[in-house]
Amino acid sequence: MPLLGCIADDFTGATDLAAMLVGNGMRTVQLIGVPRGPEALPEADALVVALKSRTAPVAEAVADSLAALEALRRGGCRQFFFKYCSTFDSTDQGNIGPVADALLAALDAGFALACPAFPANGRSVYQGHLFVGSDLLNESGMENHPLTPMRDANLVRVLSRQTEGAVGLVPYAVVERGETAIRQALTALQEQGRRYAIVDALNERHLFAIGAASARHPLITGGSGVAMGLPENFRRAGLLAARPDAAFLADAPGFAAVIAGSCSRATLGQIARARETFPTLELDPLARPDARALARQALAWAEERLGATPVVIAASAPPERVRALQEKLGRAEAGALVEAALAEISAALVARGVRRLVVAGGETAGAVVAGLGVRRLRIGAAIDPGVPWTRAEGSGPPLLLALKSGNFGAPDFFLKAFDQLGASLAA
Ligand code: ADP
Repeated sequence: MPLLGCIADDFTGATDLAAMLVGNGMRTVQLIGVPRGPEALPEADALVVALKSRTAPVAEAVADSLAALEALRRGGCRQFFFKYCSTFDSTDQGNIGPVADALLAALDAGFALACPAFPANGRSVYQGHLFVGSDLLNESGMENHPLTPMRDANLVRVLSRQTEGAVGLVPYAVVERGETAIRQALTALQEQGRRYAIVDALNERHLFAIGAASARHPLITGGSGVAMGLPENFRRAGLLAARPDAAFLADAPGFAAVIAGSCSRATLGQIARARETFPTLELDPLARPDARALARQALAWAEERLGATPVVIAASAPPERVRALQEKLGRAEAGALVEAALAEISAALVARGVRRLVVAGGETAGAVVAGLGVRRLRIGAAIDPGVPWTRAEGSGPPLLLALKSGNFGAPDFFLKAFDQLGASLAA
């Protein structure tokens, strides 16, 4: 029976959380979308349902989150986690407040903590204010985000605008004193009628203490950081055995490939580095704005090269070339065309025996996984923070996947991914 049931508001955020739980000793499976009715849930200690609810209309985000909660409850989970971005991506309409309100009501619970801190990635919360590195959230670049501009770093205020419930704060001075002090402060806020508590955290010691203090909370909300302390609660309660093999994945021998659709600076650098070692094809959707034709070109190229060395197929391009295609086709159409081509290429590569596939780009990964019909990923060891190897589970062929959000990963990520695969596989 799973112990912890998690609902994540986007795909790569779900993977990030799942990797955190595996890293702390829970066998974890990521479910893509709400599990359908009679579908039996997989064997795992933690389940993470990946939704696309971060920027969806409020009513849809709430409905999807409640459906996920219901499926996780039916599956036997006894504690629940609502995962959002460590930059608290939301607007005054939601969706963090409304989704958390709905989950609390469904669980018949009156209180939850909220902590997006993730010190390893520079996100810390001090006196309720969220910092990205040394900058306040509203001066970090997030104030210009196209969908969820964050113009206020005071999370007590930000969350208060999204809920009718009262929001309190557990400040640094309390968190620094550890588990018991935090637990008492949370209980006091709840007794004063607060529905939420923003909890300060500057380092991992704080996050572990917050995790320990929330062992009895039905719902915890936050970034993946605050989940690091939760597995230990289940071990202390005798519900979870030590699991040295939590990151174990069964092997899937076959060819290896990288598919890149992210145009982030990080991904462009990673492709440049991989090109020195792996055969690399750079697609030119501007010269050939036809998904079918791009896919045919890529397959003809790959068929001659699949072998002992991974092949790289990239649509990724620098900003001026991306802009040129967008001006030609429209922004949405440009993205959709390239995603369709990369999804078709991925499916054809798997049909030709590729079994280890690295995909770069959040939207790209979503399109590839949908194209492959993958609904579940068992999570293995992290290659770089937030990006683990995973293994698709279900009716398709055995397949190892690493799905990288654009900005993640070190410059040698694509090389490292294949070098480190052994760490996830059975001895
Ligand atoms: P990231 O995680 O970096 O945001 P995504 O995959 O989410 O990456 O988004 C990148 C988008 O850019 C995708 O929709 C992809 O199809 C599109 N894209 C990729 N290559 C090109 C290109 N050469 N021209 C225009 N758009 C492109």
